[in-house]
Amino acid sequence: MGNSTPLCFKLILFILCDVIFFVNSLPDVIKIGGLFHPSDDNQELAFKQAVEHINADRLILPRSKLVAQIERISPFDSFHASKRVCSLLNIGVAAIFGPQSAHTAGHVQSICDTMEVPHLENRWDYRLRRESCLVNLYPHPNTLSKAYVDIVKTWGWKTFTIIYENNDGLVRLQELLKAHGPSSFPITVRQLSDTGDYRPLLKQIKNSAEAHIVLDCSTDKIYEVLKQAQQIGMMSDYHSYLVTSLDLHTVNLDEFKYGGTNITGFRLINEKVVEDVVRQWSIDEKGITKPANITTIKAETALMYDAVHLFSKALHDLDTSQQIDIQPISCDGQNTWQHGFSLINYMKIVEMKGLTNVIKFDHQGFRTDFILDVVDLGSTGIRKIGTWNSTLSNGINFTRTFSEQQMEIEANLKNKTLVITTILSDPYCMRKESAATLTGNDQFEGYAVDLVYEISKALGFSYKIQLVPDHAYGSLNKKTGEWNGMIRELLEQRADLAIADLTITFERENAVDFTMPFMNLGVSVLYRKPVKQPPNLFSFLSPLSLDVWIYMATAYLGVSVLLFILARFTPYEWPAYTGHGEKEESQFTLMNCMWFAIGSLMQQGCDFLPKALSTRMVAGMWWFFTLIMISSYTANLAAFLTVERMDSPIESAEDLAKQTRIKYGALKGGSTAAFFRESKISTYQRMWGFMESARPSVFSSSNGEGVDRVIKGKGSYAFLMESTSIEYVTERNCDLTQVGGMLDTKGYGIATPPNSPYRTAVNGVILKLQEEGKLHILKTKWWKEKRGGGSCRVETSKSTSAANELGLANVGGVFVVLMGGMGVACVIAVCEFVWKSRKVAVEERLSAILHE
Ligand code: GLU
Repeated sequence: MGNSTPLCFKLILFILCDVIFFVNSLPDVIKIGGLFHPSDDNQELAFKQAVEHINADRLILPRSKLVAQIERISPFDSFHASKRVCSLLNIGVAAIFGPQSAHTAGHVQSICDTMEVPHLENRWDYRLRRESCLVNLYPHPNTLSKAYVDIVKTWGWKTFTIIYENNDGLVRLQELLKAHGPSSFPITVRQLSDTGDYRPLLKQIKNSAEAHIVLDCSTDKIYEVLKQAQQIGMMSDYHSYLVTSLDLHTVNLDEFKYGGTNITGFRLINEKVVEDVVRQWSIDEKGITKPANITTIKAETALMYDAVHLFSKALHDLDTSQQIDIQPISCDGQNTWQHGFSLINYMKIVEMKGLTNVIKFDHQGFRTDFILDVVDLGSTGIRKIGTWNSTLSNGINFTRTFSEQQMEIEANLKNKTLVITTILSDPYCMRKESAATLTGNDQFEGYAVDLVYEISKALGFSYKIQLVPDHAYGSLNKKTGEWNGMIRELLEQRADLAIADLTITFERENAVDFTMPFMNLGVSVLYRKPVKQPPNLFSFLSPLSLDVWIYMATAYLGVSVLLFILARFTPYEWPAYTGHGEKEESQFTLMNCMWFAIGSLMQQGCDFLPKALSTRMVAGMWWFFTLIMISSYTANLAAFLTVERMDSPIESAEDLAKQTRIKYGALKGGSTAAFFRESKISTYQRMWGFMESARPSVFSSSNGEGVDRVIKGKGSYAFLMESTSIEYVTERNCDLTQVGGMLDTKGYGIATPPNSPYRTAVNGVILKLQEEGKLHILKTKWWKEKRGGGSCRVETSKSTSAANELGLANVGGVFVVLMGGMGVACVIAVCEFVWKSRKVAVEERLSAILHE
């Protein structure tokens, strides 16, 4: 016990001395060298500020003081750069920071490597291997490239154009170029000219109707490129720009804030941390000193600040395990700095938070696990809308919700004047009838015009109605791949919305976006109303067909003859033998049989009746037959005489297809024509073949022209038209009607350019108008009330009341038959008289001869 106390005391003293010795091992002054080019924005300032911050903050390197040794070198003079590095090493520096230029950095790097002095860089460097004494805080381009791929995938861009400035840009976008390609969605790559005039290039992109652009150029050119894009009209609501520069937040984009263009980029620096740190910095801009803020700090500046902190932290950590001395090193000598590699290794394992979020390196010395802010231009300037995490497979995470986005879009709409493209088509858009000269939107009225007004009222935008110049709805020319009509107006961004009787079709939906339908309809046939047939004099014959009349006559004769034969045959029809030797005569002579049959047929009967079972059977069956026939005739006669006979040659589209006498056509370039063209149903294919081959052409350039053709054609032309338009026409023109039902069902929608931000908002308004019954009110107003609506309803009721009366024309034939019968009876009477007189005369002469 007596020996153990001094031993223990000695051990503790030894450990304590050791710790004190190590903690105090760093020199009081630690020099670090910074190499800067005159053009480096605020790099030097950041370097100095970092040194000051570390010296003030006693948590890192508490007993030492950092001293910044600054050397300003030309970006192209590597010889001078090497000399300055050597002079820095000569005065004994612990690390070299910078320079930025690739020309000089290589030389500095190789000297540092040889001398084993840590070299900290913060510049963009695409090389896949890093030297042993180098730590570069700038994320590797390959990793950054993944961020661009992820955002493009998240947005679902199918096509886009890359605008790049130099080869570095292609390296930056390598992953993006790999992700898309000839097999999947092809992309266009174009290089900015170095003349400073980018308009020709931008015009070409505009003509290709590309709306998605990835812009890779130096930060100081971003404004100019966007400005020139704005001049040629490429800064609309439908254009989206992804800027690859990490310094988008430093560009003044105020001019584009309200344009609605989607300008997105990534930011390496952490806005909140930067704001706190740089507030004290003052930036000298051409002699004027102004306070620094987030918009003046570039990623590389922040990285310089972080690099000094990283170095200090690693040195602080190394200090706890090694005794460090910093000596001057000569470039010409053999000596190297023995702690250089250890310090570099410590830097690679340090994990700290800086101005550029988490700073961490992988074993190769590349930054890893870092986070980029996704930023875009809003009405308040550049703001954060999400983050990208380099460790995740799709690291994009948008922090803005869909409804926030929508609210912003709707707020944006309030300051806008949208161009509405439409077409003159009754009753959707018609010229107002007015004695005064009207201008602007006042010139037009109709369902679509009212609908635009309702939507604009709900969303608060102003609008300008423009008629489509080529008077077409929109069809794709398969040979040239070009659209015409309203669809073209939208694709070329000359209009923001197309509001008309524009049918939603698959082909159009692929080119533009449609809202949900505001009206449902189908293709049908417009044709002349069936004309009333003049009443037929012998219409009493109509209830039975000619065949039945003939069969009836035959049956009548057959029954009469059979009755005559059976009456002869059966003994019971002969009168009882009286025994007086008189000549016995049966009543059923052929004439009587015929009289009996006709009497039964006419429901009158006659004065003699059959007595035998067989003849009674014949009579019974005949009566049954006449009962049914007469009842059927009477029932049918009533219907025939009261219902007007209409002459309608076609009852449906199938009837049209079956014949060639009546021509039929549709609107040229419209969805109805497209329906027949694309149909796989044989009837409609046949109809399309007929329409295409018909000469002169059966197609019309407007619905109005088609309707005129039906009226003038007087039954020789039918127009295939949409049911809603047919309804409008038949409400006003009582000679026309819809033949058959609808051949399909579809809807009219409001079209917008592809990816229009306004579609969701407009969709919402349409739903609301539908639920409130506004759309129904508008339909009633323009179909049934305005411009002569409802004029055919009166006529329909008149004609039904008149249908019950029978005129002389309907029953005249019966009178004719009666008169004819009377005439024939008179003729027969004369014949009978002549016959009888002749017979009497002959008999009298014969008896006179016998008497004589
Ligand atoms: N609504 C049709 C269209 O959008 C035009 C009329 C028609 O084809 O019948 O093309």
